[in-house]
Amino acid sequence: MQIWIRRGAFILFLAGLFAAVHFLAPPQHVPWRPVSLERPIGWATGAQLDRLSRMPDYCRAALTEAGVKYAELEAEDTGEACSLHGAINLEQSVTPYNAAVRTTCPLAAALYVWERDVLHPAAERHLGHQVSRIETYGTFSCRRMYNRANAPWSEHATANAIDIAGFTLADGSRVTVKQDWRAESPEGEFLEEIFEGGCDVFRVGLGPDYNAAHADHFHFDMGGGFTCR
Ligand SMILES: [Zn+2]
Repeated sequence: MQIWIRRGAFILFLAGLFAAVHFLAPPQHVPWRPVSLERPIGWATGAQLDRLSRMPDYCRAALTEAGVKYAELEAEDTGEACSLHGAINLEQSVTPYNAAVRTTCPLAAALYVWERDVLHPAAERHLGHQVSRIETYGTFSCRRMYNRANAPWSEHATANAIDIAGFTLADGSRVTVKQDWRAESPEGEFLEEIFEGGCDVFRVGLGPDYNAAHADHFHFDMGGGFTCR
């Protein structure tokens, strides 16, 4: 009898805890709450954005609600194991890019949140200027990881990854991963903050500390991995 009372009390405790988290915690801290790109980044932002990969219509509605402009990509033959199926062309996020950004919807959503909540505040704080352009090496690329013949397919092969090399600021100056990473300067602090902030939003963040292949860019993706280095 006693064990049933204890079990009942424990279940009531769990239910109470669940209700308290659900109703009292800010929604960006609660993994199962609906996704909104307008909220500040919280403990559950990464998990909420990750769910968008299974909810294509919901993901598009979240982009539209946030004012992100995009166009659906025409299906095209992308070759073995590569796909732009369900990808979009990101036409206007928070910041212009130096090249077309063909991307999965969850990556576009994560980019928007990162630009708004991490990139721009960090630029203002460390550099005193807005970022006027993000310089990217690209998103979609039909290749295996590190271009090795037997390696797994890269997240770039499905437009689920982006390589970011640097930034042009409103005063015309530039910050690049290649030159400014780990520099003891406002530019170095800016890069460190936006990389670490990216890891709260993207599934995977790889930079120059990860390996030599990333010496001149940050790789962010929304695949199944979970790395930040
Ligand atoms: Zn990459």
